[in-house]
Amino acid sequence: MDVIVIGGGIVGVATAYQLRAAGHRVCVVERHATVAQGATYGHGGTVLPTPLDVWFGPTFMASRQNARNGVISKTGFNGPARQFVKQLAVLQEPEAFSRQYGHLRPLIESSRETMADVETRFGLEFEQTSGVLYLVRSAQEWEQTQSALELLRQYEVPHHVLTPAECAAFEHSVRTEPEFAGGVLFDQERTANCALFAKLIKQTLDNQGGVQFMLGCEVSSIRLEGQRASVELAPSPGATSRSREVDVIHADAVVVAAGYGSLGLLERLGLRLPLHPLRLHNLVAPIAHEECAPHVAIVDAVKRIGISRMNQRLRIAGGAVLQSAGQIDKPLGEALTKEALALLGQATHDWIPGAARISAALPWEGVKLLSPDGLPVIGNALHPRLFVNVGHGPAGWGLACGSGKLIADLISGHTPEVPADTLAALRAERFQ
Ligand SMILES: Cc1cc2nc3c(=O)[nH]c(=O)nc-3n(C[C@H](O)[C@H](O)[C@H](O)COP(=O)(O)OP(=O)(O)OC[C@H]3O[C@@H](n4cnc5c(N)ncnc54)[C@H](O)[C@@H]3O)c2cc1C
Repeated sequence: MDVIVIGGGIVGVATAYQLRAAGHRVCVVERHATVAQGATYGHGGTVLPTPLDVWFGPTFMASRQNARNGVISKTGFNGPARQFVKQLAVLQEPEAFSRQYGHLRPLIESSRETMADVETRFGLEFEQTSGVLYLVRSAQEWEQTQSALELLRQYEVPHHVLTPAECAAFEHSVRTEPEFAGGVLFDQERTANCALFAKLIKQTLDNQGGVQFMLGCEVSSIRLEGQRASVELAPSPGATSRSREVDVIHADAVVVAAGYGSLGLLERLGLRLPLHPLRLHNLVAPIAHEECAPHVAIVDAVKRIGISRMNQRLRIAGGAVLQSAGQIDKPLGEALTKEALALLGQATHDWIPGAARISAALPWEGVKLLSPDGLPVIGNALHPRLFVNVGHGPAGWGLACGSGKLIADLISGHTPEVPADTLAALRAERFQ
């Protein structure tokens, strides 16, 4: 089949790879001049999500204080944004958390296998580093973490629960004063460079053939007609009025994997997904003192701030700002940006003092889509020829490899590897 994938972030690129592997001809349409320029560019380095990473559950936005949550909530009186926060709060209840994580788990496992296959097949090097250490500050937060620990035991995820002294003995850069509650070490999990991974996959596809990348092209709308689907391209900014005829590309199926840009495209077709855009920040800081720099990635488990090392830099990601959806296309403003970046600087200082030169750090911000039930939207929607692969939230990288495989299976008419209840929990129709 001929398949158009809209979006050249990690989700679009991973989907194109899987579609090609299943024997389809693929065209990826990306509005930027190259791939991995959206949320994928600023990812924090965590590859696969654990129950401690997912952006829902008992520790997520459990406190009303922004500084304790790691999420700056500025919803004001905006109804839909407040409603979104309320829906996420339901998942703080351990049973609801466990049920949703249970739906996600097969996708995580499929992603792990798919990614391992790609890596061994092509011998890709994308700054992989083993070991992720999650740290928890207070006794109350440690208590809230227990249901995530229970899920780790239930799914037999290799991990070690450490006392503060054991954390510091394992990772010398972690300070022990003031006291903190404890840590969880995943010595087999990894961090790496997602944008580099996406570019290497593109390079592999360029070498193999069968996938065309239309870069610098923006899709303005999707058309669904009978057994065909097509996309309209927006005229390029420099086009004269004579050359402003609408360019249309036809295919047998269209996959919408355009990150935040997906919402508008789908809305124009009549599919309104209740995903909420969330701004996230990162800082890339030079290492200040080598002896203070961590050798594994550190994650502030409650604030969901990840600090991973890439060569002589530390990548510090998190600092979420939750506003009404209407605010997301406007600049954030200096005060809020400062507040978000301060969360990143403070977490780095709190856990690994002296490691990073925050004053010399380069800031970046990106938008990702968060789902009110914590799960991405993956599958067929609205029309037999339309597929969506969006809303992976903060765990987009690892999940992208599994979700790309799932879309390729659905388009090829193969039975997906993930069980039926996971498939149902990921479908767009679940919100109706
Ligand atoms: C600061 C930050 C830190 C993060 N940390 C992590 C982490 O540690 N681990 C992890 O797994 N995830 C992390 N994430 C989340 C992860 O980056 C995202 O889930 C993932 O990158 C989403 O990929 P995507 O392809 O859906 O979106 P994007 O990377 O945003 O890609 C979508 C692409 O679609 C293109 N597009 C949009 N509309 C159109 C259109 N109309 N026509 C053509 N092209 C279009 C855009 O230009 C863009 O390139 C982080 C995100 C941020 C912002």
